Parts: sequence; structure tokens; C-alpha cells
Amino acid sequence: MSEPAIFRLKCAVQNYDWGKIGNESKVAQFAQISKDFEIQLDKPYSELWMGTHSNGPSVLAKQPTHSLKEKIESDPNKLLSSEISKIYNGNLPFLFKVLSVRKALSIQAHPDKKLGKELFEKFPKIYKDPNHKPEMAVAITEFEALCGFRPLTEIKSVLEKNPEFTELIGNEVSSHFLKTIEGRETSQLIEDIELNKSALRELFSKVMTTNETIVSQQVDKLIKRVKLDNETFTKGSIPELLIRLNDQFPGDVGIFGALLLNYVKLDPGQAIFLGANEPHAYLSGGK
Ligand SMILES: [Zn+2]
Repeated sequence: MSEPAIFRLKCAVQNYDWGKIGNESKVAQFAQISKDFEIQLDKPYSELWMGTHSNGPSVLAKQPTHSLKEKIESDPNKLLSSEISKIYNGNLPFLFKVLSVRKALSIQAHPDKKLGKELFEKFPKIYKDPNHKPEMAVAITEFEALCGFRPLTEIKSVLEKNPEFTELIGNEVSSHFLKTIEGRETSQLIEDIELNKSALRELFSKVMTTNETIVSQQVDKLIKRVKLDNETFTKGSIPELLIRLNDQFPGDVGIFGALLLNYVKLDPGQAIFLGANEPHAYLSGGK
């Protein structure tokens, strides 16, 4: 008798602190499909993993002692193709996750292929494989994220409108940035793009490496002024976002990060793609 081509999995659940709590979490709701899974009402459920990753491998629902990886290895030709199976050592070449985000995640970027390989060779215990990890997020509920740097003209106006930002990075870095991009903000010439990139790199590094105490003082100032300037806060406006992030992580440098990155709101069915090295942070969604 031939086996059915589709079989049910029991997927690993991660309980990172930023996850939605109890029944509120889509992750918990999906996990509950497994009969032996019981939602704890006060526990965060952040991620559901479908795949063969060693930190949370999926198993077969009918035979939980058998992992998806073993199942694939039992018939790699049928389930993965022998070519892919050889390249990825019997693992799926992707990890499919469902996320339920209550609190903002930290800003991150995934290495490109070259850096991925270097990191794996140097720190195999931390970086489990040499692959790059581009990412695609598809919204199943309304979803908010920070994604890639804003256009340079916007960053320029962020500096002009938020004196706390200039104070944070100092006049020297700020005016060097403004002078460098002046007149070449939207240029497509390779040498202009390189100059723009290096100016942005300098500015972003300065933000991220400034002493925590100073960052937190400047965040404080920024939030106080934003509150004074705005009487009402439409949900999903930048002032509302800054205040919300500061409530979640008071004084955190990521609040300045939110001014440098594109703020995107997805409706169910919309998606974003994050190439290697593209800074991003997920903010909310997955109820
Ligand atoms: Zn990511």
C-alpha cells in the first residue's frame, strides 16, 4: 500500500518573552491542534516551527518518536529530491515559522552567503550552517515591522525634525552625513551609492555604539517632546509607535532605530522580503 503524500506534523513551539500570551497567540492556537498540547493562559507563545532545525525539530503526529528529518531520510527522492537532500544533508532548505508578536523584537540582519560561511567556520556551535538566510514574512493578521533603511531624503528630514537625534550622534557625524548625501540622495551612480552607503553606515554605527546612558537620556528627551507636540496619537502613526516602543523598552536604542528604518503595516495576505544584510524588526501581529 502506498503511503499518503501528505502527513500531519507535530511542530515545536518557542516561548520567547515577546510572544503573545495564552489564547491570544496564533502560535498557541495552531499548536493546540496536537491533542496533547494544552495552552497555559499566562505563558508567551512566540513561534511555531515547521522543519528540521535541530533546536526545534518537527515530528510525525502519528509517531512522535519519528522526526520529520528521519521521515525525509527514509525516502529523500520522494520527499526532497536527491539533489536537494545531498546539498542540505537531509534537512529542509528552509524553516517555516508562524510568529505571534506582542512586543517588538530587536533589530537584526541576517548574514549574506560569504559572511554566513565565515561565521559557520569560526563559530560552528552558534552558527549551525554556512547558508545565508534571506527571509520572507507573509501576514496572516495585521502585522507591523521595521524593514530596511528609509530613503536618504527621509533620514535627512528625521535629523532636521528631531534635535535629540543630532545631539545623540553629535554635530560632526550629522553634518558629515548631510554634506555627503547632499545632491546625490537619489543618484544611481555607483560611486554616489558607495558614498551614500558609507555615510549611512557611519551614522548608524554611531547610533548603535553610543553609550547606553546617553542613549536613554536622548530617548527620554525625544519622547517628552513627541508627547508635547502631539495631543492625540493615531494608532500606527510614528509618534504613537515611538511612545509604544518606549513603553515596551524604556530608553532603548531601537527607538532611534525606528526613525531610521521603514515602518510597514501589512494586511493579511501581504508580504515583505528581507534580503541578506537588510536590517529589520517585527513589531506586532499574529493574534
Ligand atoms: Zn529575521
